[in-house]
Amino acid sequence: MDATTEGSGQEAQVRDLLREARDFADRVIAPRAEGWDRENAFDTDTLREAAALGWFGLQVPRDRGGMGLPFSAKSQLVEILAGADFGFALSLVNTMNIGYKLARDAPHLAERYLPDLLSGRRLASTALTEPGAGTDFGAIVTTATRDGESWVLDGGKAWIINAAASDVILAYAQTEPGSRGAGIAAFLIDGQRAGFLRRAPFALSGQHSIGVGGFELQGYRAAADEMVQAPGQAFRYALNDINGARTYVAAMCCGMVEAALKIASAYGRRRETFGRRLVEHQGWRWALGDADVDLAAARALVRAAEARVDAGAEARHEAARAKIFATRMAERHLPALGQLMGAEGLSARYPFGRHMLGAKISGLVDGSSEILLEGLAMRFAKEAG
Ligand SMILES: Cc1cc2nc3c(=O)[nH]c(=O)nc-3n(C[C@H](O)[C@H](O)[C@H](O)COP(=O)(O)OP(=O)(O)OC[C@H]3O[C@@H](n4cnc5c(N)ncnc54)[C@H](O)[C@@H]3O)c2cc1C
Repeated sequence: MDATTEGSGQEAQVRDLLREARDFADRVIAPRAEGWDRENAFDTDTLREAAALGWFGLQVPRDRGGMGLPFSAKSQLVEILAGADFGFALSLVNTMNIGYKLARDAPHLAERYLPDLLSGRRLASTALTEPGAGTDFGAIVTTATRDGESWVLDGGKAWIINAAASDVILAYAQTEPGSRGAGIAAFLIDGQRAGFLRRAPFALSGQHSIGVGGFELQGYRAAADEMVQAPGQAFRYALNDINGARTYVAAMCCGMVEAALKIASAYGRRRETFGRRLVEHQGWRWALGDADVDLAAARALVRAAEARVDAGAEARHEAARAKIFATRMAERHLPALGQLMGAEGLSARYPFGRHMLGAKISGLVDGSSEILLEGLAMRFAKEAG
């Protein structure tokens, strides 16, 4: 097969994948999402239904049982799913990430964990944040101490997606207290082993489908080959991989606004006031046009960032711009589009309230808006100096 045939084969595969995602979002996620919030549920059964479609192996090479698709396919998949439920999409992508990283960086661990991760039998997390350190990642205090051939880990992680049930966790720990990024290493933690203590899931004001929680490591013993990234390397890898995460979170904001736009415009075509359909009032419909403009601009930034991640190019600024802009776009337009629905916009059967919380979460995860803005702005200070 030549490169062109292979390329068009992959495009067709991505088109089919995204069609399947739209169907899953409409048929499976949307009808269940309201119940997840009402019942504070983290629905691992629905995650396993998604696993049955092969999605957990989306970026995993074919010879390891995955689909071998590029990053952009993952980003566009979760964009569609977030239109139905942001938390579900974020939960799903966090398990997808670990399978891919193990296949890429630690083939011996991939052999051990991939079958369970691809089938959804086990869920996964990436754990940087601690009760005392969020934006300031270099300040983490979970320690990893060398003991003969193995490492002993002690400390606590908080605000971790999927931690309500995950037990294959890439966790960051300090090997040389006081050295900040230079001493941070990444370990594969097996939550079925002694020394791992799961905390009760965090009670959020919504979006329970994200399964956010925390855990403690108390004398947890990791073998030498369970260090996935060495001290120093881990910090750099985390900052590089996070560009992909920033890009797909931005895509998810686009997915939520697109869904809200569709719901509000359909409502405006049905509902009448003052003898006309809502959509026939100019003052009503301009909010749709306004959202459409910003959504197209956010999408353009997201597609540009995806292209750089796919190409393996430096994507720091592109990902930061996309995430800041798409988050603000969602924070502005989701309430405005909900307003178009009047009181109905507040009904739990529509996703406006859940999506608004999703937009707030987007402004915090994988680099808060303030820290991303600072990263973009700092270089002007340096250039001026
Ligand atoms: C739903 C949810 C899921 C999450 N999932 C994960 C996960 O899976 N894995 C993981 O490791 N973490 C996760 N996080 C944690 C997330 O990455 C942190 O919340 C984020 O890094 C912010 O850290 P913090 O909450 O400790 O805020 P802090 O660091 O305490 O900061 C508080 C506020 O001050 C701002 N701020 C801090 N420093 C500065 C500065 N220098 N200049 C200007 N403003 C500043 C921050 O932007 C923030 O708005 C999750 C968080 C949430 C809410």
